[in-house]
Amino acid sequence: MPVWIGVYRLGLRHLLVLALILMVLFGFAQTYRALNHHLEQRTTAALSWVLAGKVIVVDAGHGGIDTGAGSGPVAEKDVNLAVALRLAEYLRQAGATVHLTRDGDQRMGSRYREDLALRVKLAEDNQADLFISIHANSYPRNPSQRGAQTFSQAGAEEAAKLSQAIMAEIVRLLGNTDRKPTQGDFYIGRNTSMPAVIVEIGFVTNSREFKLLQDPAYQDRMAFAIFSGIVKYLAEQATPTVRWVDEKIIETFLREKPKTLAP
Ligand SMILES: [Zn+2]
Repeated sequence: MPVWIGVYRLGLRHLLVLALILMVLFGFAQTYRALNHHLEQRTTAALSWVLAGKVIVVDAGHGGIDTGAGSGPVAEKDVNLAVALRLAEYLRQAGATVHLTRDGDQRMGSRYREDLALRVKLAEDNQADLFISIHANSYPRNPSQRGAQTFSQAGAEEAAKLSQAIMAEIVRLLGNTDRKPTQGDFYIGRNTSMPAVIVEIGFVTNSREFKLLQDPAYQDRMAFAIFSGIVKYLAEQATPTVRWVDEKIIETFLREKPKTLAP
């Protein structure tokens, strides 16, 4: 049966050829995406040596009777924990020492402020290098609001850099948010001596995004993006030392040059 598209009369054979071309193109796109993802993983893996010996607190927001944002069978605390556990795994694999503020459905203190204070204390007692807090956002008045976003304490320079690095990787690797890293005033940011970043992994008040946040594959991609941001921030920190070593080597080389290069 011929199909008319504008002035073109397409026979079944044409449609089959068209379908075949589309399938091939789709296959190429899939392969390209998979290859790209593989390269991303390798780039981050190649840099991840910067995590060796680092102490990192991974804080899954809320827990126990403090469900965080959202209500129902799944709450903010649950998706926070899922992403935090995956992030901890990535960091440990790269050689970091990770302290989780919780690894199950509980919290550290029985009262809200006490709970936060104990989370901060865990980081201070272990002289953590970084504090990564995982939360999910909520905006009931406008359920169309969506997208992950990072936050740091206003005026905290290193935290802002870490926040930018994590946000950039979330934007790049997930491709579904154009939010900007933002500074504000937070209990954790105010009371920690190491760079601290709060990652709001998405909005529980956006039903589509909340569904995504419950998908283990998406949780893994989110955790990897945060991990990748941490790696890139630390790699940036490490560069001056590497440069200094390079300069020393060059200096030595220049000093020795007459001897070593003499014909
Ligand atoms: Zn929260």
